[in-house]
Amino acid sequence: MSVAVVGGGAAGLVAAAFAATGGAEVTLIERTADGGRKILISGGGRCNVLPSELALDRFVTDSPAHLLRGMLRSWPLPEQRAFFERDLGIPLALEEASGKLFPQSNRAKDIRDGLVAFARARGVRMQFSTSVTAIQPSTGGFTLRTSNGDLQAARVILATGGLSVPATGSDGTGLQVAAELGHRLIPTYPALTPLLGSSASGHALLSGVSLDVRLRAKPDGRMVETSGGFLFTHRGYSGPSVLDISHTVTRESRSASSASSAVTPGAMADRSVAIRAQWSALDAAAWESVFDAPSTLISSLLARHVPARLGEHLMREAGIPPDRRTSGLRRTERLSLIGHLTSYVLPVGGDEGYKKAEVTGGGVALDEVEPRTLESRRCQGLYFCGEILDAFGPIGGHNFAWAWATGRAAGLAAAEANTRTHPAP
Ligand SMILES: Cc1cc2nc3c(=O)[nH]c(=O)nc-3n(C[C@H](O)[C@H](O)[C@H](O)COP(=O)(O)OP(=O)(O)OC[C@H]3O[C@@H](n4cnc5c(N)ncnc54)[C@H](O)[C@@H]3O)c2cc1C
Repeated sequence: MSVAVVGGGAAGLVAAAFAATGGAEVTLIERTADGGRKILISGGGRCNVLPSELALDRFVTDSPAHLLRGMLRSWPLPEQRAFFERDLGIPLALEEASGKLFPQSNRAKDIRDGLVAFARARGVRMQFSTSVTAIQPSTGGFTLRTSNGDLQAARVILATGGLSVPATGSDGTGLQVAAELGHRLIPTYPALTPLLGSSASGHALLSGVSLDVRLRAKPDGRMVETSGGFLFTHRGYSGPSVLDISHTVTRESRSASSASSAVTPGAMADRSVAIRAQWSALDAAAWESVFDAPSTLISSLLARHVPARLGEHLMREAGIPPDRRTSGLRRTERLSLIGHLTSYVLPVGGDEGYKKAEVTGGGVALDEVEPRTLESRRCQGLYFCGEILDAFGPIGGHNFAWAWATGRAAGLAAAEANTRTHPAP
């Protein structure tokens, strides 16, 4: 009896390779013709394989956080790196400014092809262009209903990902299968996704302006802070700082929309979560000192710290004439301008949804699985790994780190259990 891995993305490829390394006979079933399509488009086609340091406290889950941390730590970062460099023979290079690791070749295809080749060399049988539609427990294991007929397996690893970028093969069937088998799902929402602006803000005129910012939001009373690149687009806001904080509003709008069917997905319900921007490194006290300069044009002072087009826009919104000098700046104007510069509420009108989301938030609750083996607590012999689980990390290679670590743990555990039940003759 074999181990079936459903989904040949990042987590499934690693799970299959480790299950085979652990001695199991493994079949990997993948709906696309070649698998690993998210790997191919990751990191702008360069694949940010891993971070150089793991930001454990920046991962997001609605499940107990210690479970997430334990699962991630099961495969320490240096060992993950060694797997790619030593076992797959793909040297990685550090991008100093961002702390991200990429293949030295800067080709995502090398990672995808390397993983497929490694799994094949360990004896994994690949069944591409095959969709699993249902999984039913049966005598001695499971029956998998697929688009190419039924398949039997002693153990199944579900690595079907979430709902993000459906063109890569993710359509949520795996989540549905997990629910049918009795697992508790945390409601899903797009995460690491660009946000839409509101037409009234006039921000479309700033399209193309980019700068480094600090963003803050306080969903559920907990402060979330991000910093780094911010880009005004013709539809709204993007860049690393925006992607990393987008879940604070998408999560809220999706839970509001599931409570009221009148809300269009992607459009914001009445939101209590505000994202506030500090447009430069200067906080309110620092701007107070800047505006103490004797008789200088305010616009010139702003232009030293924020792009000129943004500075002019903020002055207009704060009701300050373009020719105002520090000597003529009224106290109320000064306070209003400093508020706009350091605590600006982004007029978020929606989000780009799953089509552009790098990951899916929510999924199979982490306390539905055994922390070490990732075996389901509801359905013996079934394992989960990767994005289907209720966890995601910030951009920077953290989501692959999650996929690799949980894929390896599920693969090894399924093989170990298989050997216990069906020892070699
Ligand atoms: C544009 C983009 C860029 C990204 N860049 C990075 C990056 O640089 N670094 C990083 O760490 N993360 C990045 N990510 C996130 C990362 O790609 C995901 O976190 C990761 O791929 C999740 O792995 P997974 O195996 O769980 O899911 P997936 O990679 O989505 O794989 C799931 C697989 O299951 C298959 N499948 C689904 N349902 C079925 C079914 N019913 N039957 C058979 N097969 C099925 C799908 O075809 C797919 O191949 C990026 C994501 C996107 C969208």
